[in-house]
Formats: sequence, C-alpha cells, structure tokens
Amino acid sequence: MDRKNLIEALKSPVEVKNGIYSNKYLALADKIRHENVGDIVHLRGLIEFSNFCERNCLYCGLRLDNKNCKRYNLTETEIIKYAENAVKLGLKTIVLQSGENSIFDTEKMSRIIKEIKKFDVTVTLSLGEKSFEEYQKYKEAGASRYLLRIETTDKNLYKKMHPNMSFENRVQCLQNLKNLGYELGSGMLIGLPSQTIESIADDILFLKEIKADMVGLGPFIPSQMTPLKNEVAGDFLLTLKAIALVRIMLPEINIPATTAVETMVKSGRKIALKAGANVVMPNVVDYNISKNYAIYNNKFSNEMGIKETLDLIRKDIEELGRTWL
Ligand code: SAH
Ligand code: SF4
Repeated sequence: MDRKNLIEALKSPVEVKNGIYSNKYLALADKIRHENVGDIVHLRGLIEFSNFCERNCLYCGLRLDNKNCKRYNLTETEIIKYAENAVKLGLKTIVLQSGENSIFDTEKMSRIIKEIKKFDVTVTLSLGEKSFEEYQKYKEAGASRYLLRIETTDKNLYKKMHPNMSFENRVQCLQNLKNLGYELGSGMLIGLPSQTIESIADDILFLKEIKADMVGLGPFIPSQMTPLKNEVAGDFLLTLKAIALVRIMLPEINIPATTAVETMVKSGRKIALKAGANVVMPNVVDYNISKNYAIYNNKFSNEMGIKETLDLIRKDIEELGRTWL
C-alpha cells in the first residue's frame, strides 16, 4: 500500500455490532497475522521499575514537571525478584521499562540485565534515548530487544510535544539500536492534538523504512496532570485500523495489544488481537507499586494478583481460539 492507499484505509468506516468490529482491513490484517506469525500470542512480563523522568513530553503523566506524580524506584533486588517470579509463572521475555532517567546508570542496568539473563529469558529494554555506547553496553550485558517509539513523524507536532528534544536524535537512536543488532521496537501515539490522518500514514511508512521488528501503538489518553489534560483522547477505531495497517505493511513483525487499548475499551486487548496484534505485555509488578506508573488517567492495571491477571489473559487468548507462549 502506498501513502494514498494508507490514508484511504485509515479513513474507511468500521462497523461495530454486538462487540464485532467489521472493516475489510481489520479482516485482512487478521488473515495476514495468521499466515505469517501464526496463532500463538506471545506474553512478555513488563516491569516498570522507575517512574522518575527527566523529560517533559507534554502528554505523559511521568513528565518531570508533574509534581503530583508519586515517584518510585524499585531496588535491583526487587527488579530481579519480580523477573524471577514472572519466569516462574511461565513468561519467557522480561521487558524493563522506566522514565528516562540517569538514576539507573549503565553499570546498574548492566548488572540487572545480567542477573535476569541467568533465568534464561529474553530481555527487552525501554529506557528512552541513550548514547550509542550505553546501548552497546546493554547489548553486551544480554539485552536483545529495545522499544523506543517515534511517537509521531510529524516534525512540527513532535517538536511541540517534546520540549528540548530532537526528532533527529530520536531517529539516530533507532538507527543505532538497529546497527547494534537489537530487535527494534517502535511505534506511535494515535490522536495527539492536531495530528492528521496523513501523518499517521507517514508514521506507518516510516516504521517500514526503519525495518521495525516490533510496533507498539496506542491511543493518546489525556492525563489529568499534564498540559494536555483537556484535550480529546485518540480514537479507538482509528487505533485499530492503524494496528491492522501496520500488520498488512509489516506482515512478520510482533505487534502488541497495548495497555492503552485495553484502558480505552473493555476487551480492547481481544479486539486488537483480532485486528493484527500477536503480543500481550502484562505488568508483573505488584499493584500498590505499579499504580504509580501513571502515564495517563485510569491506566488499566489489575488490583488482583499477577498470577490471576495472567490467568485471565491466557483465558482471553484461548477464547479467541489461539494459544499463548
Ligand atoms: N520513557 C520511555 C518509556 C516509558 S513511556 C520512553 O518514553 O520511551 C512509554 C510510552 O508511553 C511512550 O512511548 C508513549 O507513547 C506512551 N505514553 C505516554 N503518555 C501517554 C498518554 N498520555 N497516552 C497514551 N500513551 C502514552
Ligand atoms: Fe518520560 Fe517517556 Fe513519559 Fe516522555 S513518555 S515523559 S520520556 S516517561
């Protein structure tokens, strides 16, 4: 599909009847997903280990200037314990995510990665923009995947949303990660204020150009504690179509049904899994801590235990006639 086709597809109507979402691109994406990556849904244990952030992304509740965010750091021992517990519950990949901060320096992160690698699992990082050398050190320590969303390829919008950050540097980081041999994860927000359909089509073309191995995208959800608190949330149906189009354009990659999708619509995760997604990233940190990783309002997180949450997700997947790993 070229830019024009993508724009047309993003504008195409989705019919919603009794919880069934009908649109030819959603159906095509589901077929392409089945043919290229099969029916297994991959589960990744997400550890949001620190919500300290030195950046000020306008949309995010973890931004530096949000003084109402209750900040926390897990200790190295806690992070490793959570990873060990997730492994015991059958998870094969651990994703370490945090605000962008220098509290967890290269040495500390490398130690954590090495300890988690002892459990014989894949380690994915999502720590924001770092230097080539830092990415290299993490790779040497055993990390093999990295998630860094481009957020939007509309340069003006990017600039507005990210004070004191540079689009060019973000792209450079993505290139560095690819050159270092990481499996590269990127993606975007859908429905940022004044974001256009055309720019979402460009985002999808960009993801193809950088040869993303994984694409995570979700609706923008306004956070009370940010300058965008009164803005309109991203559209769920547009998000679904974007997921489907990413699957159609990049048939063999991994696409998570994100937490933002689940937050927005009940059973959003299942709906996304039927529109091209093949990954779920359940949080594996206790609720009393993870509730403070408040990127946006009412972020879906389960007050029930980690095992119970995992059981529910596995049941959802089985109800779709799929298997999980
Ligand atoms: N600091 C790291 C990782 C944590 S943020 C980084 O920025 O890469 C992880 C993702 O949360 C971001 O990439 C962003 O797309 C998403 N996010 C932040 N605020 C959001 C909001 N208000 N609604 C939806 N997603 C949001
Ligand atoms: Fe920090 Fe990431 Fe939130 Fe930006 S999106 S403020 S870098 S946690």
